[in-house]
Amino acid sequence: MNKMPTANGYFGIYGGKFVPETLVNALGELEKAYNAFRKDRAMRIELKSFLSHYAGRPTPLYYAANLSHKCGIEIFLKREDLLHTGAHKLNNTLGQGLLARFMGKKRLIAETGAGQHGVATATVAALLGMKCTVYMGNVDMKRQAPNVARMRLLGAEVVPVESGSGTLKDAINAALRDWVKNVRHTHYCIGSVVGPHPFPMIVRNFQSIIGKEARSQMYTQVGKNPDFVVGCVGGGSNAVGIFSAFLRLPKTKLIGVEAGGFGTKPGQHSARFAMGRRGILHGCITYVLQNKDCQILPVHSISAGLDYPAVGPEHAFFHDEQIVEYVRCSDSEALRGCLALSKFEGIIPALESSHAVGYVLSNRKRFKGCVVLVNLSGRGDKDMDIIAREAKL
Ligand SMILES: *Cc1c(COP(=O)(O)O)cnc(C)c1O
Repeated sequence: MNKMPTANGYFGIYGGKFVPETLVNALGELEKAYNAFRKDRAMRIELKSFLSHYAGRPTPLYYAANLSHKCGIEIFLKREDLLHTGAHKLNNTLGQGLLARFMGKKRLIAETGAGQHGVATATVAALLGMKCTVYMGNVDMKRQAPNVARMRLLGAEVVPVESGSGTLKDAINAALRDWVKNVRHTHYCIGSVVGPHPFPMIVRNFQSIIGKEARSQMYTQVGKNPDFVVGCVGGGSNAVGIFSAFLRLPKTKLIGVEAGGFGTKPGQHSARFAMGRRGILHGCITYVLQNKDCQILPVHSISAGLDYPAVGPEHAFFHDEQIVEYVRCSDSEALRGCLALSKFEGIIPALESSHAVGYVLSNRKRFKGCVVLVNLSGRGDKDMDIIAREAKL
């Protein structure tokens, strides 16, 4: 089904690999190894076994009856929050960890924003007996302190990144610099469908398990496809993961929810499609938040995981081709979604996932009587400080 990207890594006019010369070979090697890995029966069996017995797949598809009755929408949740380590990230890091070992690499490096991808990478490094270094902006380290402790407990070295805005974009820059230097024995385990080819393709394929499961669960539990599939979009891996099984169905609409919250400085937000334009960031062409001199703008969202000034190139393609509709959800709408799901269903969602829930609840009329599948990408424990402060608990 997914014929994209082209051999050079393009989704339409987006994607590609714009990297320093030292990485061109590494990316080519990675792609070759990935193609061999995909065809290797023993590797496929090992990944499948880890996904079910270690990570807890398949994750449930849950009909949120209380919330559904309250708002007159049939809401189904794909429970990635129940995956080991609390978010969908582990689908990708298990895959990339095994791929790295398959390539003979002894060390994993990663960037992290909210800390979820750092934790998922550190977890896999512990599982497979590999070394692990995680780059994290110093601002993010402060707002996601429990995840920093978790990574260290798992044996990873966490390196604070002070340059730029001290957030996710700067952590990716630092990780890329490390990779250039140590590429012979190190695999860069990127956390979303971003970066140069083949990363957006590899991460999408590892996350597509979400959609495959959800589609067959919808079929057995409901007997039909959903009218809408909704996912929050940071880099875009959880959304593309669930969308991939529902692409181009005549009766199913796909909705990607961006963070639409505004920061303290004017113009500071994270809505790439609403306010960004075509540019290059982290090795690929995509929608980027930038000023007229193509300098990256500072971003803001209540959730660190959606705080990224670009978006995966496949989403840029889906946007222009109108295969997916991209909308925004403000900080306060996301918070209301978080509170509603907690109170009526006993499920505390991550603030990222709360954007998907919040968008649906804030646009009840649009979804009235429809079957809506929401990807609940993660659980909210990591965000308790922020939720408690904002909701005045
Ligand atoms: C990291 C994260 C996201 C954002 O990343 P995507 O690649 O857009 O999925 C969303 N939700 C949760 C819970 C996360 O941890």
